[in-house]
Order: sequence, then C-alpha cells, then structure tokens
Amino acid sequence: MTRNLMPNAYTPGATPLPPEDEARIARRTRLLGPAYRLFYAEPLHITRGDGVWLYDRDGRAYLDTYNNVASVGHCHPRVVAAMTRQASQLATHTRYLHDGILDYAERLLALFPPELSHVMFTCSGSEANDLALRIARAATGGTGVIVTDNAYHGVTLATAEMSMSIGPAVAPGPTVFAVPAPSAENYPEGIAKGFAAAVTAACDQMAAKGIKPCALIVDTIFSSDGVRPDPAGFLAPAMAAIRAKGGLFIADEVQPGFGRTGEAMWGFLRHGLVPDMVSLGKPMGNGYPMAGLVIQPQVIAEFGAKARYFNTFGGNAVAAAVGLAVLDVIRDEGLMQNAATVGAAFAQGLRDLAQHHDSIGEIRAAGLFLGTDILTEGQPDGTKAGRLVNDLRRDGILISATGPEGHILKIRPPLPFSMANVDQFLTTLDKVLKQA
Ligand code: PMP
Repeated sequence: MTRNLMPNAYTPGATPLPPEDEARIARRTRLLGPAYRLFYAEPLHITRGDGVWLYDRDGRAYLDTYNNVASVGHCHPRVVAAMTRQASQLATHTRYLHDGILDYAERLLALFPPELSHVMFTCSGSEANDLALRIARAATGGTGVIVTDNAYHGVTLATAEMSMSIGPAVAPGPTVFAVPAPSAENYPEGIAKGFAAAVTAACDQMAAKGIKPCALIVDTIFSSDGVRPDPAGFLAPAMAAIRAKGGLFIADEVQPGFGRTGEAMWGFLRHGLVPDMVSLGKPMGNGYPMAGLVIQPQVIAEFGAKARYFNTFGGNAVAAAVGLAVLDVIRDEGLMQNAATVGAAFAQGLRDLAQHHDSIGEIRAAGLFLGTDILTEGQPDGTKAGRLVNDLRRDGILISATGPEGHILKIRPPLPFSMANVDQFLTTLDKVLKQA
C-alpha cells in the first residue's frame, strides 16, 4: 500500500489558478519555505468566518464541514467577547495568583470522572501529548510507546515520532511501536480482543529489544486512522493490556473532545474506562491556542517531585476566560445534544445516499464525527475521494479525506450544524457523485 501522506493537497502547477493566487502562493513559498501544504487543488482565500460558514475574498459562502477547532462556531460572539474583555484587562501567566485559571480548572475537571482530578495547561495538543509522555516516563520508568499505524499526535520531536501518518521519514521513532488500527479487516477475531492482543504483542516486541513499556496513546475516535468509534467499549481490554505490562493509557481527546461525539463530552467515555491521562486541544479555545492535560494524581506524583512545570502561555488569563466561555456556550446552546441528533440524522442520510451510489462504502459515526469510505468496485479509492473533496469545494462545501490510503471522507463540522446544513451537504454530495 502506498501511504497517502496528504490527500487532496494543492499541487503546484496542476490546476490553472487566477494570477493573484499564483502570486500569493509564490510569496508564501518564498517566505514560509517548502514544508507547508495548502488544502484543495484550487486553494481557498478565506477572509471571514461566522458560525458554520467561511467566506472567501469575494464574499462567497462555504459550508464548513471540517472544522473541529471552531467547534462552537467560527468567531462565536460570546467567546470573542470573553477574549477581548480579558485581553484588555490582564494577559499574564500562571506564576501569579489568578482566579480565572482556577475557576476554569474547576469547571473543566467537573466534566471528568473523579479519578482525573488535576489539569495542566499547554498551548497546543502536541505540547499536551509531549507532556503526557514525560509524565508517563517518570511514572513508569519505561520509554516504549504504542500508537496506531496511521496515528497523528503532534509536531514536537517526541510526538512527531509517534505520528505514523506523517510518514516513514519521521515515524516511528526508536521507542515507538505501531499496532494496526481497530478495524474489522485488521482484527477478524473481534476488534476488542484483537486490538488488546496487538498491544500485548507490541509490549513483547519492546521487551525483545530491551525497552520497557511506558504508554499506549490513542485518539479515542481514531480520526487519522479513518474514524473508528465502534464497537463501543473495545478500548477497555487494550487499556487493561498496557497496564498489565506496566504502562499507562493516554486518551488523546484533541479530536473527539468537548461534546463532538454527542453522547458524552469525551470520546473515551464511549469505552467505559478511565484513562491515566487525557490530552485536550483544538476545540478547547474555539480558535484561541489553548490545550491541556488531565491527570490522575498518583500518575504525576513522581514527575511533580522531580520536575517543575512552567509554560509561558499555557493557562494564561486570556486562555482561562476563553475556555470558560467555550464551556458556557456548549452548555447553553445544547451543542452536545445537537451533535447527537444532527449527527444521527447525518449518518442516516449518508446511509440512504449509499443505496444509490456504489462509491459510498462503510459509514462510521459518533455524533458529528463521521467517516465514509469511498470505493471503486469495492476497493478503497483515494483518487476518487480526492476528486470528490475538490468537487465539493467547488460547489461550496469544505471537507477533507483521511486514512492511510486517503479514501475516507472525514466529516467534522462545527457543532451548531443544523438539519438544513446536513441537507445541503447530502444534496451536493449526491450531485457530485452523479457527475463523477
Ligand atoms: N492529537 C491529535 C489526535 C490531533 O489531531 C492533533 C492535531 N491535528 C494533535 C494531537 C496536535 O495538536 P496541535 O496541532 O494543537 O499541536
């Protein structure tokens, strides 16, 4: 299998673009260098966001079905007000006493099982996972980490080496061991049993190399592995397997967290377990860069005794105000419930559409996190998925594709997504599939 490292990225020279965009792209490359990528064959120049909508420089509206950062809606007025209010009063760090961070920590921790009773703040999901790894090393004395084989966990050295989806030039690092993603094809004996056995086998591989296990870390919705929420509960035996070998279980909630799965605030709750640590990010600040790590106290005892932690911007006064506003909006606007009802209708609509289009394969979903396999004659077709993504973009709908072969449409809109938005998506997908 050839790994599709960035499905539907812009390819220089492949599609004629307006001269002003060619100039903008050339300037970008000159200034930002060669490592960045742009979405879509015809990159978008977005100038404004509002709710579930993004607007380009000509004022054309695009329905955003891919943005789990602006999770409560782009530029939500309550979040923006909280941010500007706090920024105009005080913007400083956690080395002074400040009630904002404590009020936020209290509200956030109340959303977790009682065992998870400490929270530390960072600026990005990468930093949260990196910190989790440092804490896990201190707690276990081990270094070996288990991830899934198309995982993404971040941009720091340690987390990039855990991010198999970035490609073989980067991952796996020398103490990182990958297990197949939890799908029925990978584990015909049953996902729960097979995935746990794979974790045990990975620990045995480590032992053969003289490496002691430190942690199993997974995105609890397995987003970059193609969205894999089912069967609910399948992660519990894997967590037991890593603990039996002396390692910890880290739930990466950067993707599913903050109500997206509809049934609960956190993806791990779907599996009826309590992780040792939980990393948070993207939707936490609705666009303001904030992230964090929620921890069981006994796990951080060793690290706390030996290290001190300070993150200049992590948990600053503005972050605390923003985080609180995001939680208020999720509660007051019933966004988790909306994710459940609209997400269920969305999944059903896709299943109905699949009756008329052989290209649509399995549909996997939890709330407003949906993954749809795109097939040709029953086989994964990343090229077709990429074409659909670009056709939808031309018709005003923003989406992307994921998975090792890039053939899985990943649908992950802001949580205020409505039934009318679902209808627009399904009608447009039907249209572009008929044209294909
Ligand atoms: N974990 C997961 C599952 C992610 O999807 C991401 C970001 N795509 C990260 C961690 C890293 O977060 P950040 O980009 O904020 O560093």
